[in-house]
Amino acid sequence: MELTRPSDVAELDGGIFVHGGTEVVPLVRDGILSGEKLVDVRRVVPRGVDNGVIGAGTTLAELEVDPQIPDALREACRLAVSPQLRNMGSLGGNLLQATRCWYWRLKYPCRLHGGDRCHAREGEHREHAIFANDFCASAHPSDVAAALLALDARLRTTRRELALVELYRVPDETDRDVVRLEPGELILDVHVPAVEASVYLKAMDRKKWSFPQVGVAAARVDGDVRIALAGVAPVPWLLDSPDALDAATPLPRTEWKVPVARALVARALAALG
Ligand SMILES: Cc1cc2nc3c(=O)[nH]c(=O)nc-3n(C[C@H](O)[C@H](O)[C@H](O)COP(=O)(O)OP(=O)(O)OC[C@H]3O[C@@H](n4cnc5c(N)ncnc54)[C@H](O)[C@@H]3O)c2cc1C
Ligand code: SF4
Repeated sequence: MELTRPSDVAELDGGIFVHGGTEVVPLVRDGILSGEKLVDVRRVVPRGVDNGVIGAGTTLAELEVDPQIPDALREACRLAVSPQLRNMGSLGGNLLQATRCWYWRLKYPCRLHGGDRCHAREGEHREHAIFANDFCASAHPSDVAAALLALDARLRTTRRELALVELYRVPDETDRDVVRLEPGELILDVHVPAVEASVYLKAMDRKKWSFPQVGVAAARVDGDVRIALAGVAPVPWLLDSPDALDAATPLPRTEWKVPVARALVARALAALG
């Protein structure tokens, strides 16, 4: 595989983007991602925080200690993965990480790989989704995306601006992707509006180095509260109200996530006051 290191957006010309490589390298190694060219985008994607604008190349480790960053996002970064991987992993790469569904990672010919079955629905699915899980029951693994969704963040890419909520789509028969980026579209930065208060709470199997089983982000602006969840649907999930959890459609072995989500939502709202 060829590795290129462009220094300007104008030099981009196809290939697989790689930033920290914490996700791309294992996927290439395991034969899930393949191509002729890896494009190291570290010289192209902005890095650092300036007045509510976060370069997509900023690492999770930088975000978790930056006082300009709202609490929900700082805490989501702090609770993610391990210090070593937070030092490598970028914000843009985190938003575009692939599912952790073990069937997908083990290359079962499931629906997200273009097949006609969801092996998780029929098989082991303790860590899977409780919403929008009909076609694919995977649970979106990004703490950071849930925090940014509650914060109503917007993205700037090499082609357009869009709300974070527009970045994601629930996969279906017509399109098995969970993101709406076009081929070759690069995320440049993330705009995070100011909020009065925000919080991120996470239920995980271990205290450290564990993906969210359920993550709950909440942010208050002008008295209104926005709630978003990680680990409950194939995409980061916006919850209209705590009562919207009544509409969950858990699988037999994901039922346990519903009361956990309820408890975390109640705690998050209490924390916002
Ligand atoms: C063991 C482990 C545990 C983890 N636990 C958690 C966790 O608990 N919570 C959590 O939120 N995350 C977790 N993660 C995910 C981790 O945070 C991400 O892997 C990391 O942030 C990805 O950043 P990166 O720069 O290394 O991405 P890369 O591996 O370089 O890229 C990831 C994807 O994003 C694309 N990409 C990268 N940058 C851009 C860009 N600017 N524009 C467009 N496309 C881009 C790449 O092409 C690729 O598809 C975990 C990862 C691992 C390996
Ligand atoms: S949950 Fe999604 S990724 Fe996992 S086996 Fe089912 S279709 Fe594939």
